[in-house]
Amino acid sequence: MRYLVTGGAGFLGTNLCLRLLDDGHEVVAVDDLSTSYSGNVSALSGKPGFKLVQHDIVSPLPELGRFDFIYNLACPASPSKYQKNPMQTFRTSAWGVWNVLQFASVSKTPVFQASTSEVYGDPLVHPQSEGYLGNVNPIGPRSCYDEGKRAAETLLMDFHRKTGHPVKIARIFNTYGPHMDPGDGRVVSEFVLKALRDEPVTIYGNGLQTRSFCYVDDMIEGFVRLERSRADFTGPVNLGNDNECALLELLGTLESALGKKVERNFALALEDDPKQRKPDCSLAKKELGWVAKIGLEDGLKKTADYFRKIGASAPAIS
Ligand code: NAD
Ligand code: UDP
Repeated sequence: MRYLVTGGAGFLGTNLCLRLLDDGHEVVAVDDLSTSYSGNVSALSGKPGFKLVQHDIVSPLPELGRFDFIYNLACPASPSKYQKNPMQTFRTSAWGVWNVLQFASVSKTPVFQASTSEVYGDPLVHPQSEGYLGNVNPIGPRSCYDEGKRAAETLLMDFHRKTGHPVKIARIFNTYGPHMDPGDGRVVSEFVLKALRDEPVTIYGNGLQTRSFCYVDDMIEGFVRLERSRADFTGPVNLGNDNECALLELLGTLESALGKKVERNFALALEDDPKQRKPDCSLAKKELGWVAKIGLEDGLKKTADYFRKIGASAPAIS
């Protein structure tokens, strides 16, 4: 099969492209390289069947030929990165998704959308199932991402209802693992890298806020299962690991994974930071026969191995 993967040089994009190439498919990645890690491009380029096209999806997509399936992953995902240029973040989810749909509509190619648990905002219902409509601040520092992704879901579902175009929406919960940018800023890469470098980690708030961390191989398997799901299944469907843990527990698990103590500093909680997050994965289990399998300690060990391998674990030179 021939795949288009937007955001194909990012963390999830690279893992997805590698999986599709390993399965014997042809992959064209479209990426503006705004938040990708340069090592990912090296890991992908030169692989038979792979091509990278540098392009910002806020502009209409160029002529790229016909595809069997499109994965739309383009969008910064780390809060520090998506807040750097919030207007561009919003445009990527709204205009970018519109451009992907226009491109796809010519040949009725199905579109997979990487949505997010952030559509639930700071949830008042716990755990979050797909029926929960969310608690999102429309004007806060996270809104460019949360509201952008909500707008994208609206656009996809309206387009689907009006034209019958096949769409598949995954609401992805916190995912981590190899091919994360060492400068990504999200909590797992920050904690693992700082621990490897024997530097103190920073915990924003009291560390009691929760997340549910999914190892990337599980997530990519979920993507592929959603792609292959029955034709009339659009989602949205939650994809994540439902093993919820507080940040302090994450740190404890990291300490046992690495066999060392990790120093910590506390800083003020970030504005609008969700206090809890845990997916209800019953729909994914029923429709896709999918559950996340890799435990946190194992996943953290694999992530640490990756950062050691790429040489990112050495202390920063000040
Ligand atoms: P990432 O930042 O590592 O990758 C995003 C990729 O998209 C980067 O390579 C970046 O250069 C590219 N990109 C950004 N804006 C673009 C644009 N306008 N045009 C073309 N390319 C653009 O993030 P990720 O963790 O790999 O996330 C991938 C997708 O999954 C995103 O849509 C994100 O919202 C979604 N998601 C990820 C997580 C997670 O935990 N990783 C959770 C929820 C949702
Ligand atoms: N966080 C932290 N220290 C860091 C990075 C993040 O305490 O160095 C916290 C952040 O405030 C949030 C949680 O970890 O409560 C998850 O943050 P992340 O940026 O990984 O993703 P989010 O789920 O907020 O999108």
